[in-house]
Amino acid sequence: MVARYVYPCYTSAIMCPISPSTTPRRLTGLLLATLIAVAPSAPQRDHATSAVGSGRATNTPSITDSSAVATLRAYATAFANGRYDAMWRLLTPAARAGWGGHAGYATYYQRKFAPVRLRGVTLGAPQGAGSIVRIPLTLDLTWRHGGQPDVLTLLRNLNATLTRTPAGWRVAQGGPLDPEAPIIPPPVPPASAVRVPILMYHHVSDTPPLAYSQVDLTVTAHDFTAQLAYLSTHGYHAIRLVDLFNTLYYGRLLPPRPVILTFDDGYADSYTDAFPLLRRYHMVGAFYIITGLVGTTLGVNTYVTWPQVEAMAAAGMDMESHTVSHPDLGLLDADRDAYELRFSRAVLAGRIHRAVQFMAYPSGAPFRSGTLAAQARIRTILVRYGYIGAVLDPVTPGTQQDARAPYELPRVRVAGATTLAQFAARLNL
Ligand SMILES: [Zn+2]
Repeated sequence: MVARYVYPCYTSAIMCPISPSTTPRRLTGLLLATLIAVAPSAPQRDHATSAVGSGRATNTPSITDSSAVATLRAYATAFANGRYDAMWRLLTPAARAGWGGHAGYATYYQRKFAPVRLRGVTLGAPQGAGSIVRIPLTLDLTWRHGGQPDVLTLLRNLNATLTRTPAGWRVAQGGPLDPEAPIIPPPVPPASAVRVPILMYHHVSDTPPLAYSQVDLTVTAHDFTAQLAYLSTHGYHAIRLVDLFNTLYYGRLLPPRPVILTFDDGYADSYTDAFPLLRRYHMVGAFYIITGLVGTTLGVNTYVTWPQVEAMAAAGMDMESHTVSHPDLGLLDADRDAYELRFSRAVLAGRIHRAVQFMAYPSGAPFRSGTLAAQARIRTILVRYGYIGAVLDPVTPGTQQDARAPYELPRVRVAGATTLAQFAARLNL
């Protein structure tokens, strides 16, 4: 369901720290060696229904907010202590789905946070009323042995969502501790691979293409509907790229028959045609936006507007980078390539208030025909500017996704002439 994929947004809430412990402790057996910011009164076990004070989380806390804050405080404290069992008990039943039980849940956190140290946890002011409360949560993390720049700051100021259940307040979404939070790449990727078709679309429209060059790039809305119906009736589950990396890097389970739907270039029909059809089938898609073309018409192509990009992101769709101007990466100089990748990501993240960690190579370059040197240079730039994965437009389509090649994720192109039988066959390449 799309609703499951709604991502915790950044907020502008003023951050208020948890009362720090007087003496940071080093706990043996924990991956998080440095423990800070645990309230002295913070519970060590499941105190979800206890009325722990909200500390400095809000100036005038209500009883309701205080209990939600206390629960999140207990959840974050359990994380800082490596008490994954306590975290598990504080989850809503829905949030416990997809882990394969408590053991898979613990393994995920151990693996994801192995490369970092936790210096502190901070709660912001609660928002909302009634049975749903959102609270900004910040993890103050540093790399243990160095790591990719600009990744750990993405785990700051993300909304956690708490809901009131008959058993008390529970964590429905953990903000930076949620499985949909930004990926922390391991220094050495594990030798893991999984078969997940990443479908590659461009136009989805019943409007006849205005140029011959658009014919193969255009899947009719009729055909696209038939493809989504096929996926739905054959047990496929549309997942996000973050789900793929949760599996590749941390071993989290995938649903049966996972598939990723991607849409390149950000054409206006991404919003008018693809987006509503995805919603009709309760599926999520990733849209690769050329930020310099948003809101423009260039030749025969009209592109989405920023309000449309924001609306799709708010509805749970992923908005990822496709550079600023869709150049052939690898042909330009390093400064221009860096500009294309750095600014497209920054502009997009600023608009949608979400992390942008993935990109699609324009026309697949330089991985379709570029030199090895050009490919190595682009990979270096992608790491430097905060990308943790990139999808190809490969000459040979494939579905085998490998943790050791995160910047070369193969895709399967769906073209205007693709029949439903061909579509079904390509899911199993
Ligand atoms: Zn493109």
